[in-house]
Amino acid sequence: MLRVHNTMSGRKEELRTRREGEVGMYVCGPTVYNFIHVGNGRAYLVFDIIKRYLRYKGYRVLHVQNFTDVDDKIIGRAAEEGISPEEVARRYEEAFREDMRRLRVLPPDVTPRATEYVEKMVRVIEALVEKGHAYEAEGDVYFSVTSFPGYGKLSGRNLEDMRAGERVEVDPRKRHPLDFALWKRAKPGEPAWDSPWGPGRPGWHIECSTMSLEHLGMGFDIHGGGQDLIFPHHENEIAQSEAYTGEEPFVRYWLHNGFVNISEEKMSKSLGNIVLVRDILERYDPDVLRMLVLQTHYRSPIDFGPQALEEAKRAYGRLEDCLFALSEYLQQKEQVTSPARTQREVELTGFFMEAEERFEEAMDDDFNTARALGVIFELVKALNTYLDEQAVMATPAGKIIAGQGRDLLLKLCQVLGLFSPLQEEEEDLYGCGGDEELRREKKAAGDEASAESRLPAPQSLIELLIELRARARAAKDWETADLIRSRLEQLGIKLEDRREGGTRWKPA
Ligand code: AMP
Ligand code: ZN
Repeated sequence: MLRVHNTMSGRKEELRTRREGEVGMYVCGPTVYNFIHVGNGRAYLVFDIIKRYLRYKGYRVLHVQNFTDVDDKIIGRAAEEGISPEEVARRYEEAFREDMRRLRVLPPDVTPRATEYVEKMVRVIEALVEKGHAYEAEGDVYFSVTSFPGYGKLSGRNLEDMRAGERVEVDPRKRHPLDFALWKRAKPGEPAWDSPWGPGRPGWHIECSTMSLEHLGMGFDIHGGGQDLIFPHHENEIAQSEAYTGEEPFVRYWLHNGFVNISEEKMSKSLGNIVLVRDILERYDPDVLRMLVLQTHYRSPIDFGPQALEEAKRAYGRLEDCLFALSEYLQQKEQVTSPARTQREVELTGFFMEAEERFEEAMDDDFNTARALGVIFELVKALNTYLDEQAVMATPAGKIIAGQGRDLLLKLCQVLGLFSPLQEEEEDLYGCGGDEELRREKKAAGDEASAESRLPAPQSLIELLIELRARARAAKDWETADLIRSRLEQLGIKLEDRREGGTRWKPA
């Protein structure tokens, strides 16, 4: 039974989806005006890990994630750089897609851009005005928080406390200090769309309500984002969506990831303490960043810094080393006369089964990746011990158990997104510049391609190719040897010849 922590109830609840076997998930996407920092990176990695685990559990996941491509910050950046807001948005959308691809974050199924849904947003705002939930003030339109009795239910605040805590100067045109903009009148030179209230653009909150309702409908399963989005963004999304449809709930489960902090302060652009994902990827394997995210429960804070990165690198190295050692063992020639399966192999088989169960139990408990990694490292330890015992020569029984151990280790790592190959199909999906139509066409074409071509190469096949390459080299057939190496690299598998002999491989 999978239990998830729902911010709405403040408790872990059993995941009961709207439709059996299917999860509709909306994750708030980036405002595209800058390269993403490690805090943003965490949010997208967390929901990638959640999505991968849901898939492992057998759910079909429909993942929608927007691009906020019209916003004050984009307009500001455009003025600074002397280019149009559209150019700023496209440039950083592309950069975001590239960062995600490098982090092996699976692409969402739909990536709506806010600017492509403005007409729909206008219709939602019109309906809210008609129903008395919104009002116009000199070309702006505000949502009236007092018109929605449930306001504050997600963040656990009530309007009176919030009013008392209000320090900023209140816009006299607002009926309540917490009323928020659904529509903003355009200033000269700003991007603008026609509306019943004159030229303007939508507010950030109405974008997410409109796009999530459009693609997932009312009552979808999971809505995600960082904890900073709980208030006001998600509180406002609930108010708008439930007031507009007259139904509830807008969302069944609200999931929020904890912050990445630096010296106990949230990493954020406004504090000027950001570290860009792409700068980290200059120095570290993308999986090291994923490992760093996995080592902490997704709702707890992460204290980011060189030490945390080095720790994650060491942990990742232990996984790599174990996989390489297993690979080498499996490449050894077998002892001709060897004992049959011993008590030791029987024990290990039992341990594998139990490890897989405990991994699943940890992940079923609100995606406890730290505990799940603990199980993976126990498996690593058991496998390393076994290999040490087998140091003399490989036996057939030993090879079987080592092969099973390696398959299990790799499988569990890949559920978390570690060692996951860059799948060509997905690379393509990311490379379409957000063009939904092109993406759909490519997907359809991909679906028609043989299933075989999309399967990641099984371990044994990689090893077979490594062996064939070694034979080609021994016969001084350098052309064949190089061909095998370069073809494998195109498939996302990198070979490394070791000084002490033998070849190991890793995802490129
Ligand atoms: P933004 O582009 O600022 O809306 O942020 C994109 C995503 O990153 C949102 O889900 C935010 O909640 C999340 N986020 C922003 N800063 C941090 C941080 N320091 N730690 C974790 N998540 C963050
Ligand atoms: Zn949002």
